Amino acid sequence: MSTLIELYKEVAACTACVLNRSRTNPVPGEGPPDAEIMFIGEGPGFHEDQQGRPFVGPSGRLLEKMLASIGLTREQVYIANVIKCRPPNNRDPLPSEIATCAHFLDRQIEMIDPRLIATLGRYSMERYFPGAKISRVHGRARRDGRRVYLPLYHPAYVLRNPRAMPQAEADFHKIPRLLARLEEVLEQEEEIEPEEVEPKQLRLF
Ligand code: SF4
Repeated sequence: MSTLIELYKEVAACTACVLNRSRTNPVPGEGPPDAEIMFIGEGPGFHEDQQGRPFVGPSGRLLEKMLASIGLTREQVYIANVIKCRPPNNRDPLPSEIATCAHFLDRQIEMIDPRLIATLGRYSMERYFPGAKISRVHGRARRDGRRVYLPLYHPAYVLRNPRAMPQAEADFHKIPRLLARLEEVLEQEEEIEPEEVEPKQLRLF
C-alpha cells in the first residue's frame, strides 16, 4: 500500500488530463494521515496553484475561521479537492477531468479513513449525494457505516453571498455534534449482539 507522500509524488508527475498543462503547481492536499475530519473542495484556485497548497486564499481564511469556531486548526484536519490541478481561468472542472483525477482522492480517503467527510461545494457533494441540490441538502448529514458525510457550502460561495454566512456557520457547527453522536452510536452497536441487529440499524440522529 502506498503512502500519502508517494501519492503526492504521483500527483506531481501526473499528465493524465489537460489540466497538467495549465497548472503552476499540483495541489494534492494536506493534513495529518490519521485525520478524523476530511474536507473536500472543488479544485485549486489562483493562490492554491501558486503555493501548491489547498485553501490558502480568501476561501482558506474563511475555512480556518470556521474551524477555529469549533476549536480546530487546519493542521488537525485533512484538506483536499476533487481535482488536483487548477483549471485555466478558474473555469469549472469538466466531468471527464473529475473522473480522471478521482482515483487520487479515492486513495487519499482510503489511507486517511476519516470519520467525517465534509464536502465543500457541489462538485465534491456530487460524489456522495448524486443529483442533489446543495441549496436543499447543505447541513444534512448522511451516515454510511463508520463514517458521516456532511455537505457544506463552499467558502467561496459564502464569500460571494454574505447572506449565506449564518447558515454556513450553523451547518459547520454540526461537525462536533455529529462526531460525538457517531461515536456514541458505534459504541452502542458494538454492545449489541450481531444477530440482534443489522449493521447500521441504529440511527445517528
Ligand atoms: Fe492528473 Fe488530476 Fe492533475 Fe488531471 S487534475 S493532471 S488527473 S493530477
